[in-house]
Amino acid sequence: MATFSSPIQDDLAVNWHPFMQMKDFETRPPIRIVSAKGLRLQGEDHWYYDTISSWWCNLLGHGHPAINEALRHQLDQFGHIMFGNFTHDPAIQLSKRLVSITPSQLTRVYYSDNGSTAIEVACKMALHYWRNKGEPQKNRLVAFDGSYHGDTIGAMSLGGVHQYNGMFGSVMFDAMSLPNPSVNESRALDELHRVLQASSHHIAAVSIEPLLMGAGGMTLTSLDFYYQVRQLTHQYNVSLISDEVATGFGRTGHLFVSTAAGVCPDYLCLSKALTNGQFPLAVTMTTDEVFSAFYDDFEAGKTFYHGHTFTANPLGCCIANATIDSLMAWDWATHVASLHDALRQGMQALVDDYDGLSNLRTVGTVAAMDVDLPGHRALFHLAQRAFDHHLVLRPLGNSVYLFLPLVTTLDECRAILGHLRDLFRGCGGWHQS
Ligand SMILES: *Cc1c(COP(=O)(O)O)cnc(C)c1O
Repeated sequence: MATFSSPIQDDLAVNWHPFMQMKDFETRPPIRIVSAKGLRLQGEDHWYYDTISSWWCNLLGHGHPAINEALRHQLDQFGHIMFGNFTHDPAIQLSKRLVSITPSQLTRVYYSDNGSTAIEVACKMALHYWRNKGEPQKNRLVAFDGSYHGDTIGAMSLGGVHQYNGMFGSVMFDAMSLPNPSVNESRALDELHRVLQASSHHIAAVSIEPLLMGAGGMTLTSLDFYYQVRQLTHQYNVSLISDEVATGFGRTGHLFVSTAAGVCPDYLCLSKALTNGQFPLAVTMTTDEVFSAFYDDFEAGKTFYHGHTFTANPLGCCIANATIDSLMAWDWATHVASLHDALRQGMQALVDDYDGLSNLRTVGTVAAMDVDLPGHRALFHLAQRAFDHHLVLRPLGNSVYLFLPLVTTLDECRAILGHLRDLFRGCGGWHQS
């Protein structure tokens, strides 16, 4: 290797970045981050607000002292041990915490390492549950169009984001698809009702991304919609898989969407903010009813044969404990409410001032709007220019969104909105309305 190569040249020689056309790096190479503190990501010669919470994970900022301290402490005890025969305090404590803050019937915690695996666990448990209950014909899964549950093949099969999944149709399982509820809730509900009426004997579970449908375009549905889906699935004896991988831990202004909606799903999937994004860890939580359907003499053949090498990694559990403690030690709900107001007002002012902006939707620390810009790959180029304004934007379709850490101060929020305004002001072909 040439001794004078730069880290960026080295990166481009050996790394393959996710969700990126690597050729695009020819015009704007990846940015090398050298440190991060609070909301700020420090590059070699420029800094950035982490305006998408490092892919929807970060709640409490980077370099959080209590989280770092917890990690250091656990490192001195032990790092990874297998969770098959062994257990450890970080996992015991984390599970107790999670059981105490989620809907009361969720009493069991199954660990894995990311959002997609949390969904895979839920799907396999749901299918296995009905088999253990003597109803193996309940083997179909149902999902809403426009929802996103991850990128493994099972999680993709439930997802309805065709840009990501279209390529892999031949290997995905055949989930039954319902209309996108963020387009029309009552139509989605009617269709769910019709499908359950006709086929509930063959359906194991329905999956849902409640309140905020993230990767499908940052669109919203109501708490009541989620509640109605739970009512229908109860009525037709079908399990409900709730994907709160992105919405959990205060992101929407509610600790969990499920608690806010008064819904207890049969499976609750959590990841992302669980560790403040500082460690890959996920959980699938479930009920006594499900757990006891697997609990039997070995010969009954009901054992759940699923697991990942890094199940309940002690470092991850320890970081999650520190994250939850730090979140709970703070009146985050009051702060998120005022942050949401500032965010909504600022975004509304942008939408009012620029005629290419429309369809504002906001919840908690998340705000999205449609951007109508002329030109080839206009939003891609907008996001590239955003870096020059200290912003990290990852447009989804024709939408631009902010997904702010909970600790974002009102001043930081106003500064971010100011930078966003500067970015739009610089857009050629636009006039202020
Ligand atoms: C990100 C996400 C996932 C997938 O999580 P990964 O950790 O990326 O596998 C699943 N569901 C939702 C709602 C997500 O936002």
